[in-house]
This record gives sequence, structure tokens and C-alpha cells, in this order.
Amino acid sequence: MFRKDVPGVLFTETPDADEIPLVFDSPHSGTTYPDDFNAVLPLARLRRAEDTYVHELYGTAPVHGAVLMGAHFPRIYIDANRGEEDLDPALLDGAWDRPLNPSRKTELGIGLIWRLSPPGDPIYDRKLTVAEARRRIETFHRPYHATLKAHLDRLYDRFGQVWHINCHSMPARGSAMSEDGPDAERASFVLGDRDGTTCSPDLTGFVRDHLTGRGYDVAVNDPYKGVELVRAYSDPARHRHSLQIEINRKHYMNTDTFERNDGFAALQGEITGLIQALAGFVRARLG
Ligand SMILES: [Zn+2]
Repeated sequence: MFRKDVPGVLFTETPDADEIPLVFDSPHSGTTYPDDFNAVLPLARLRRAEDTYVHELYGTAPVHGAVLMGAHFPRIYIDANRGEEDLDPALLDGAWDRPLNPSRKTELGIGLIWRLSPPGDPIYDRKLTVAEARRRIETFHRPYHATLKAHLDRLYDRFGQVWHINCHSMPARGSAMSEDGPDAERASFVLGDRDGTTCSPDLTGFVRDHLTGRGYDVAVNDPYKGVELVRAYSDPARHRHSLQIEINRKHYMNTDTFERNDGFAALQGEITGLIQALAGFVRARLG
């Protein structure tokens, strides 16, 4: 395995041999909080936004021929799973000189740069300067997207097809800020293909059937459909497939102490089984 690390920003691990066109990315498991964050909420509140340990759950991906990459920066500082234009101008102390296209996520306070921490507490007691917002985009968000795109393009050029799994975890229940509302109980896994637009149905069906066969309850596109990272580089008609997988955190961590729970090792084994199965799925489709 070859590891490339950009401290504080991201890492990439690529297999030594027998590479297949399969890429896993974990955009929200970063825990390196930059010094210039200057949030008012305590770290324990900020950390609730993390998909803690998700890159570890998928850690064997390079052994099975796939690329694994992940962010070191926390998603509550800048969210790699949002478009660069999904920004709330009310967060800023001055005029933004780039195009803006705020989405429903920005309305909810969880756009490119989050304004609120669920269930609805302000993260800052100040406006962000235009310069610091720009720096977060240029130092963290753009390199993450550029790295993911480079791997997908490289493998697509070599194989004519590429499969991308965008890896996340979710709280066991909804909140006042989530689409499913407070106290909604979530499935063990939620798969998101933006209503069938980011990958061919056989990929979503394969992952759903694999996990169901292992005894898990699996929901599709409800309450999470996938956001920017499955949208941006997918084009199923041209054999570029992206699928989001959300894992229920109750299976692997204590969300109050942020420690791994007793289920961690077993779930890691299950995810390794899923990676192996996906590698087989991909190999069966190569000419
Ligand atoms: Zn996530």
C-alpha cells in the first residue's frame, strides 16, 4: 500500500498491485480541528458532526485493490460534501465575489460552512471574514475534491468504468434539523443514490442485498439521498457510478464519549466483507 498524507487536510491510500476501479472516500471522519476555527461551542458539541472512525471501518480497502481516501479536517469547519456555492452570505462580514447558490442544506444551517450545530445552536458568535471563508475553501475543500476527482478520472481512463463509494455514518435518531425530524429511528444502513441518478441500480441493489443478507435493516434514499460528492463526478450512462453509504453509529461507537463500542470490531469485519464483495462485483464487470 502507498500512503500519501497532506497533514491536516487529507490522506490517500492506494494498493501496491492488482488495482481495480473502486474508490472509497470518507469526507467527515476528520478530527484535526484547525487553530483558527474560533467556534463558541465546546469541542464535545462540535465533534457530534463527525463521522468518527469511518475511515478505519473501511481501512482494508487498499488490500482488496481499491483506493481509500479521507479528510483530516472536520466537516463542521468546512463540509467537503457540499458545493462550493452552497454558502450562506449572512455568515460573512463582507461581500462574496463568487457565485452563490445556497441549497436547502444552507437553509438548515448546514451548508458549505455550517452555521448551526444540531439541534440548532449557533457555532459562532461572530461573522467570518471573507478571507477566512476563502481560505477554508482553497486549503481544504478544493484539494479534497481535486484528489477524489483525480483518482476517479485516472481509473476511468484506464478501465473505462469506475465505482465510487462515499462513506458516512449517522446518528441513531433524527433531530429537529434533519429531514426525518426529531426522534425518528434510523435503519442500520442508509444507501443514497439521489433517487437512482448517481449510479446504476445494480450497484445499489447489490449493496442492499449484501447487507440485508448479513441481517441488517437497510433503507434507500430515506432520509439520506446523498449530496455533493456522489453528485459531482458520477455519470452512470458513461459508467461512472457513485453511491453513498450511511452507517448507524450505534453499531460502532458511543456518541457521548466518542469511544469505539463493543460492536466496533465486528462491524469492521462486516465492512471488510462488503469491500471484498464489492471488489468481486467490480472485477466481474471488467472486460
Ligand atoms: Zn457524513
